[in-house]
Amino acid sequence: MFIYIGNIILSGVQLKDEYLMIQQSAREFARKEIMPVAGKMDRENFFPADLFRKMGKEGYLGVTIPEEYGGSGSDYLSQAIIEEEISYASGSLGLSYGAHSNLCLDNLYRNGSEFLREKYLPALCSGKNIGSLGMTEPSSGSDALSMKTTAMEDSGNFTLNGSKIFITNAPYADVFLVYARTGRDITPFIVESGDNGFSRGQEFDKTGMRGSPTGTIFFNDIKLGHERIVGDLNGGKKVLLSGLNLERAVLSFNSIGIARRALDLAVSYASEREQFGKPISDFELVQEKLAYMYTKFESSRLFALEALNRVQNDRMDSLDAAAAILYASEASEYIAREALQIFGGYGYIKDFEIERVFRDSILLTIGAGTNEIRKKVISEALVKKYRGDGNGR
Ligand SMILES: Cc1cc2nc3c(=O)[nH]c(=O)nc-3n(C[C@H](O)[C@H](O)[C@H](O)COP(=O)(O)OP(=O)(O)OC[C@H]3O[C@@H](n4cnc5c(N)ncnc54)[C@H](O)[C@@H]3O)c2cc1C
Repeated sequence: MFIYIGNIILSGVQLKDEYLMIQQSAREFARKEIMPVAGKMDRENFFPADLFRKMGKEGYLGVTIPEEYGGSGSDYLSQAIIEEEISYASGSLGLSYGAHSNLCLDNLYRNGSEFLREKYLPALCSGKNIGSLGMTEPSSGSDALSMKTTAMEDSGNFTLNGSKIFITNAPYADVFLVYARTGRDITPFIVESGDNGFSRGQEFDKTGMRGSPTGTIFFNDIKLGHERIVGDLNGGKKVLLSGLNLERAVLSFNSIGIARRALDLAVSYASEREQFGKPISDFELVQEKLAYMYTKFESSRLFALEALNRVQNDRMDSLDAAAAILYASEASEYIAREALQIFGGYGYIKDFEIERVFRDSILLTIGAGTNEIRKKVISEALVKKYRGDGNGR
């Protein structure tokens, strides 16, 4: 449980002291270490591996992992706060951070055996190794469970064949949590980049989130022992469902960090840029934009905080997690687009940060499951709740 109070300032909701300290240190780290390389990441599609290791040293990578495995022993709110601060400085580093820390590392901790935890978590927490999660395939995106990658069993060992596409961190990652078909069911395995039969495709050249490396991975007769299973054989759906809502709630803060940056840039530009002899912030049509941007930003963040809280109480709460990321991703795209409009012609020029922020803002309406699928999840969860007790919420 956490409590936040409604003392709202432009840079955000006030948090309890322990979280404020995490926010403050992540904010300083992001401004000092991430902001200076954010433009280079975008221009050159550059992934700052050294910076990732520094994030490990700060304790950000394994923030939800107990200290005995090299983590910081904190919680999901801390992870969300760090996610927002990193994303404020660089949406793409925020995406890579989310894939590593939440989709891979936290999932491995929650579902992995003692053997897997001890073997993989310390190096993932320190940033020595980079983690990734492989679910999507060329022919199975939204319909993820129709995957074709197979792990054929023979006397307790498995042979992995197939491929995964659009995988965040794949071009650099050492450790992959990969879902594969085991007969009629799905099983998650740990795959190492050094495994015989593992290979990577070319890194994708993306519209936004550049510098967060995205790629394809191939499995050609990779031999995996039983100990590489995360959770139970044929328990893939359980592992997936155990983390999906948490992932949605935490990843909302990728969008929220991007939105906060767009809002800050827009407010400062609107106050300084003069036309017709006065700052453009004096014009009602610009004021209307700023008012809506702020309102959407604060409401998306408050909702995401509440959804995170609810998901921690009930991991199967798909209604609020899906609604939070739907709203945060739409709000972020809206805020960044309006911010670009406030910049006028300058907003359309690559030298101006808002141009990158706008491109980055689009991704979370697609990645980690599309907004169409989130709407489907929300609607189905709502109907189920109403049918359940006849009274709704
Ligand atoms: C930058 C980036 C990073 C990513 N990182 C990862 C990662 O780390 N790991 C991973 O496993 N995946 C990752 N993904 C994949 C991502 O999760 C998928 O792209 C996403 O789930 C959609 O799948 P798809 O692209 O195949 O689109 P499709 O599923 O083919 O969808 C195409 C369109 O049809 C719509 N649609 C599909 N089904 C329905 C339906 N039932 N009702 C209504 N509309 C529907 C979709 O909403 C979409 O608009 C990443 C993607 C990107 C772009």
